[in-house]
Amino acid sequence: MEVHIQKCQECQSTDVCNMLVSEPGQPQTVYVKCASCGQLVARFLLSDYYHHGKGIESWLRSLGPAAFESGRDFHDEFSRVQTAALTGFEAACRRLEEQKQVEPP
Ligand SMILES: [Zn+2]
Repeated sequence: MEVHIQKCQECQSTDVCNMLVSEPGQPQTVYVKCASCGQLVARFLLSDYYHHGKGIESWLRSLGPAAFESGRDFHDEFSRVQTAALTGFEAACRRLEEQKQVEPP
């Protein structure tokens, strides 16, 4: 695993701001803006968005209207997504600490 902290290509700041954009019928988009100089840092198109602490209603909305036709058990799926998000986050934090110890900035 390799963990990368995003930084501005213009000013090297790691102080960034995520702007989440939702439009009907379009994948959700994240624009990462530098909080120091205002430059665009990156854009992500989201196929899977989980906002920790927002609950199942927010997660279902992020899936879009097509998800409701599949008849899946959303509570089981939400629980799986929630666990995967926390596990992945913890693993990324641990990995970042290991990388810092190998290569101090
Ligand atoms: Zn910048």
